[in-house]
Amino acid sequence: MQSPPDRPDDPEAEAPSATVVSPDAVADACPRCLKPAFLCVCDAVTPIENRVGLLVLQHPQEQDRLLGTARLATLHLTNSVFRIGLSWPSLTKALGKEADPAQWAVLHLGSAKSGDLPPDREIVVLDRKGAVLPDQDRALAGIRGVIVFDGTWSQAKTLWWRNAWILKAKRLVLNPRQASLYGKLRREPRREGLSTLEAAALTLSRLERRPEIETTLRSSFMRMLQRYRSALANGDLRGSPLVPPGIGSRGGPATPRKDWRRRRPAGR
Ligand SMILES: [Zn+2]
Repeated sequence: MQSPPDRPDDPEAEAPSATVVSPDAVADACPRCLKPAFLCVCDAVTPIENRVGLLVLQHPQEQDRLLGTARLATLHLTNSVFRIGLSWPSLTKALGKEADPAQWAVLHLGSAKSGDLPPDREIVVLDRKGAVLPDQDRALAGIRGVIVFDGTWSQAKTLWWRNAWILKAKRLVLNPRQASLYGKLRREPRREGLSTLEAAALTLSRLERRPEIETTLRSSFMRMLQRYRSALANGDLRGSPLVPPGIGSRGGPATPRKDWRRRRPAGR
């Protein structure tokens, strides 16, 4: 049985990590994907007309400007919305158009126990109480859109609990056959180990039965990662405030770890 994630003890106590940077830190950022020019793959993006909608809700403190994929995913899809915030009063408000959360599905945050899931399926629909629905094909066919939380595990949990209308949505559990393209680049474990782009691409391509959605989005992500890895190999990122400590430098953190809490002005 699946259940919603445990309520975070104190969501406001989450401190930004040492990799947080202000938007000014990247002078040559692309205005569409907000990535530095050397990582931008926007030129190669031809948006796909997707039937099943995508709504990405990003936690305001999700600041992985280099390797984050949520914006790139939505740039690839005409029927998609990207929002930053903590809570919205309804799905309609979050989406900016009329929508019934009962006809949408949210990517579930609880860990999927593989024993509970049909082994031959990469996405499984659960009811609101977390039980696997008996007629999976029918349940999948009725889904009009998918909600994905973008952020760390605890940020995503916060978004879940701040948006009560989410409980009306069906839940989708992913059981991906392919590993994430991130490899070892990202240290923090996230949902099913997939990037937001990969999770959205897998879900939409299975719901619409269009494999090209997944192959197109994954190849774009791969192109971005190749650029990142070659910049790392060339030493171009050494000392960059955008690179997490321990990555991009041999034998030591790329930047000294800062205690951001102490640097915060009083009253915030
Ligand atoms: Zn771009």
